[in-house]
Amino acid sequence: MAESKNIQKKHTPWQPFAQLKPLMNASEAYYESSRCLFCYNAPCTLACPTAIDIPLFIRQINNGNVTGAAKTIYQSNYLGNTCGKVCPTEVLCEGACVFTKMNINALDIGRLQNFATNNAILTDQKFFEIPEENGKTVAVIGAGPAGIACACELRSEGYKVDIYEARNNPSGLALHGVAPYKITNEEALMEVEFLRKQFGFSVFYNKRITTQEDIESLEARYDAIFLGIGLGNSAEIKIKGEDKPGCIGATEFIEQIKLHPDGKPMAKKVIVLGGGNTAMDAASESARLGAEKVIVAYRRAKDEMKAYYFEYDLAKVTGVLGMFNIAPVEFVGESSVEGVKFIRTETVNGIFSTIPGSEFILDCDLVIKATGQLKQTSVIATIPGLEMDEAGRILVNQSSGQTMNLRYFAGGDAVNGGAEVVNAAAEGKIAGKGIHAFLTKL
Ligand SMILES: Cc1cc2nc3c(=O)[nH]c(=O)nc-3n(C[C@H](O)[C@H](O)[C@H](O)COP(=O)(O)OP(=O)(O)OC[C@H]3O[C@@H](n4cnc5c(N)ncnc54)[C@H](O)[C@@H]3O)c2cc1C
Ligand code: SF4
Repeated sequence: MAESKNIQKKHTPWQPFAQLKPLMNASEAYYESSRCLFCYNAPCTLACPTAIDIPLFIRQINNGNVTGAAKTIYQSNYLGNTCGKVCPTEVLCEGACVFTKMNINALDIGRLQNFATNNAILTDQKFFEIPEENGKTVAVIGAGPAGIACACELRSEGYKVDIYEARNNPSGLALHGVAPYKITNEEALMEVEFLRKQFGFSVFYNKRITTQEDIESLEARYDAIFLGIGLGNSAEIKIKGEDKPGCIGATEFIEQIKLHPDGKPMAKKVIVLGGGNTAMDAASESARLGAEKVIVAYRRAKDEMKAYYFEYDLAKVTGVLGMFNIAPVEFVGESSVEGVKFIRTETVNGIFSTIPGSEFILDCDLVIKATGQLKQTSVIATIPGLEMDEAGRILVNQSSGQTMNLRYFAGGDAVNGGAEVVNAAAEGKIAGKGIHAFLTKL
């Protein structure tokens, strides 16, 4: 008896959101950095949307210059720490590592990046000289990765930058969307605070810019405006029963468990609708929180899912089941959702169709809709001259982030339709440079 108690004590308690990429210690970082071949024309750097000089920062870590490594990272990517934790490295830098072609594990680039940047944040390093204010001002709408990156770039050129954020905290989806086992709330917030202290931009919270008057007021006070507004709420499926309690959008579900955990027990049976990365996150999080059965239901075939293969694998190891070629037709139940009625589907000669008479019901007490996010079309429509494509993405000049209304610039999810934090960081920086070039010419 005494022996089994001791054994239990030695076990690490179940942590539903234990970090997938925990911080390396100095010995691990030294060992891992010594594996780098310092390739010429490094494929990892070419695969990074912010073009970090990866061989250089790895060499700096290996030489013991951890602060210099962090500087190398931040010079290319203002969200260096967040990206190290949340980037889908398997398809970016690490996916391009030459070792993968030799069937050897790729270098752990994301974790090495975190080793250096975390150290810089904790020791409050200052990497950038901020010049005297140059007399020009820029408003940034949205304190997500795109808005923060744009603000940093502009402050480094001496602009006064005010960020208007609808919520009461910064970081956007990096805080309230990205899975808690990839990054903790503290880590997401800590990097923005590190940047705010260093660059000196101002953030006004609980300031949603929505009306024509809000826009006119900004135009009267600022020389240029950056739109880093991201995407909107989860899209509706528009089928019967969608308004019943127990039916929730994936982004709202994830935000709830990350920012407002209410302590209620997790539903027992969960169905997640969709086949993208958000569906995998919502399913994995439900399973980790204790749901007994979690099914990801996708209307097309398994190999047509948009989710990265490793995100689906991650969901499967938490016990999530995948069901394919089934489409929801109704949410059933009396006062709340008790199940989803599906119809089977098929694709024959490239034509997708439902199979008549194949309906069936799967029981559940929670259904999570991960079938896309709405675009922020109403705020975009208040800005004269701004143009969107047919998918509701703001049209910009890709090399400057400038929109069709020349005083407005944009980047991140609102422009790319929903990509990764590293893309938002890259596009925010490009737009910051674009604004500087535009205001310098005036
Ligand atoms: C569930 C989920 C999981 C994800 N997981 C990952 C992942 O693992 N790795 C990864 O790299 N990426 C992930 N992403 C994508 C990533 O989070 C986004 O690409 C990135 O955050 C986009 O940055 P952004 O600044 O463009 O927009 P957001 O992060 O959405 O930030 C926009 C900000 O603008 C504010 N805002 C919006 N409208 C207004 C307004 N009118 N006035 C004032 N403020 C406004 C919002 O409150 C928000 O703070 C995930 C996304 C989701 C939905
Ligand atoms: S920012 Fe992301 S893609 Fe670029 S090197 Fe770092 S982890 Fe890799």
